[in-house]
Amino acid sequence: MRIALTFDDGPNPGNPSLTPQFLDVLKKYNVTATFFCIGVNVDALPDVTKQIADAGHLIGNHTYNHPSLPTLDDNAVLEQFTKTNTAIQNATGQTPTYFRPPMGETDDRVNGLAAQAGLTGPILWTADTKDYTGPGVDSIIQTLLSAKDGDVILCHDGVLTSDQTLQAIDQAIPQLQQNGVEFITIAQQAVRGLEKVLRPNPTIVIPHPSVPLLAQQR
Ligand SMILES: [Zn+2]
Repeated sequence: MRIALTFDDGPNPGNPSLTPQFLDVLKKYNVTATFFCIGVNVDALPDVTKQIADAGHLIGNHTYNHPSLPTLDDNAVLEQFTKTNTAIQNATGQTPTYFRPPMGETDDRVNGLAAQAGLTGPILWTADTKDYTGPGVDSIIQTLLSAKDGDVILCHDGVLTSDQTLQAIDQAIPQLQQNGVEFITIAQQAVRGLEKVLRPNPTIVIPHPSVPLLAQQR
């Protein structure tokens, strides 16, 4: 059984040590994951972003400052993608391949503009830890432990409540590995087919507090 862990909204300039702590836990269990980074955060913490890439994780484009993309005009949408591609390239030397729209909010026009920027997606998710609501470590663990083969799991390394996520993965990953679970990136999942996460499903789209959080930090 293979599942893909995804971590959104980092690295967090308000708590620069948070993402490295995630990297430490993933390294401890020899797990690779996908990080959907926010461009403005990458520009603020290029060294942390490089640590993510150097550790063998996949970095995806999560826009420059986390807007609701369908509300923007074409040029603004393109700029969200291209500025973030540039930020990630400058920090890591690698060009992102995949994008995840903030809050999962997208449409055909936005997806077409992403394709113009060289990005595949939208990469959504099939299971949501709701870690951005601060549900408690046990709740996040329960979601992780109920993962099914092929799941793409939404987690966050860049929100205020990500310390819960950090504790949860440290406990859940070894249990899942004992049950034979292998952790793969979105690129590895793509080899098996991304149909489940490429098809927007309104029932799994839940706004999370990254926008007010980032706005407070600015
Ligand atoms: Zn996000």
